[in-house]
Amino acid sequence: MPASKKSSFITFFPGGADFFKKLRWPDEKRQCIRCNSRTIYILGTGRLRCKECGLTFGDFTGTYLGQLNIPITDIAHLLYLFSLGIPVYCCRDYLTISIKTAYKAYTLFRRAIYDHSAQSFFDALDAKPELKESLQSYFSLDFNKPWGSGKKYALFGVIAINGIVYTFPVTDEERTGLNIHKKYVQSISTLLCTVRNFCVVEIPVSGSYLAIPGVMEHKKYHKLTTKVQRFWKYFNDQLRNYQGIGISHYHLYIKDIAYRFNNRGKNLFYPLARMLTRPVKRK
Ligand SMILES: [Zn+2]
Repeated sequence: MPASKKSSFITFFPGGADFFKKLRWPDEKRQCIRCNSRTIYILGTGRLRCKECGLTFGDFTGTYLGQLNIPITDIAHLLYLFSLGIPVYCCRDYLTISIKTAYKAYTLFRRAIYDHSAQSFFDALDAKPELKESLQSYFSLDFNKPWGSGKKYALFGVIAINGIVYTFPVTDEERTGLNIHKKYVQSISTLLCTVRNFCVVEIPVSGSYLAIPGVMEHKKYHKLTTKVQRFWKYFNDQLRNYQGIGISHYHLYIKDIAYRFNNRGKNLFYPLARMLTRPVKRK
């Protein structure tokens, strides 16, 4: 690519900002983000003002999309590449924005998937109170806290509920409490099927990155479901595709990979665009 002005790889996008606005306000009725009033004025600048409480806000204020300070066509472009599973380092020649900004956008996309998937997980558990109780006897299931990772390995949990694979946080203390008698081996990613319902995964860490494991293995203490086996294979392939997942953000990548696994073969652009227009969950 020449160093002169780059042009976007995609030159057509249906409706630009209007596309995202329609997702934000599905019934075309804007609503105050503070008092929920439907009496909203559009100011000359395009910003919105609530007649009831006087709040001035934008169409995407408070949403994931509103956290990105880059043109909406660039966001759409990045989201398209992201939906195809193309890592930033692979598409740098096609970007009209800096690599740093592109990484920031990708991280935000993953944050939206993370929050959405955590909510779906709790919805699935609410329909199965016994399973929920069983899981909670081992794990705190707190998605707002850091996931368990140390100098040697990073941890997470896996469970299949009604054919959907969910991942969840496992801390070092929780792993210790499971009494898994397994010696840690460098360069091997391990799936430990500890209780019939769930598995715990250990991914080796190298420096501040998840290592790309040379070998993946199962330790079957109980029968492994076909779904989890498939996810395990897919997960290891994806780790190689991403080439270096920082330990500080690994929980976002784990959820990203699980989301892609559950939606294999589907067009992810539209569901992801919808997620980005939802209000960010307060933590
Ligand atoms: Zn208001």
